[in-house]
Amino acid sequence: MTNVVELGEWKVKRHAVARKPNGCKHLNMTMIHDGGYVLCDDCGASLSAFFVLEMLCDRLMLELHKARQTQQNKNGAKP
Ligand SMILES: [Zn+2]
Repeated sequence: MTNVVELGEWKVKRHAVARKPNGCKHLNMTMIHDGGYVLCDDCGASLSAFFVLEMLCDRLMLELHKARQTQQNKNGAKP
C-alpha cells in the first residue's frame, strides 16, 4: 500500500511495511548531529533518519486527518 503525505510543497510517497513492535513508541527523541542518527530518550534505541521520517509521516497524516475532521464538524454544526 502506498501512502502520500503532502504538506504545502512538501510531498512524500511511501510504501507501508510491517514493523516489528518492540513495545516503545519512540515518542521522545534526541537528534545526534555528529552521528547523523536519533536516540529514543525512553528506551535508548538508536533510530535511523529513515525510521524517524516514517514516524513523522504517520504523525502528519494523523494530525491532518484530525484537523480535517474538526473542520468538517465545525462546518456541519453551522445552520
Ligand atoms: Zn523508544
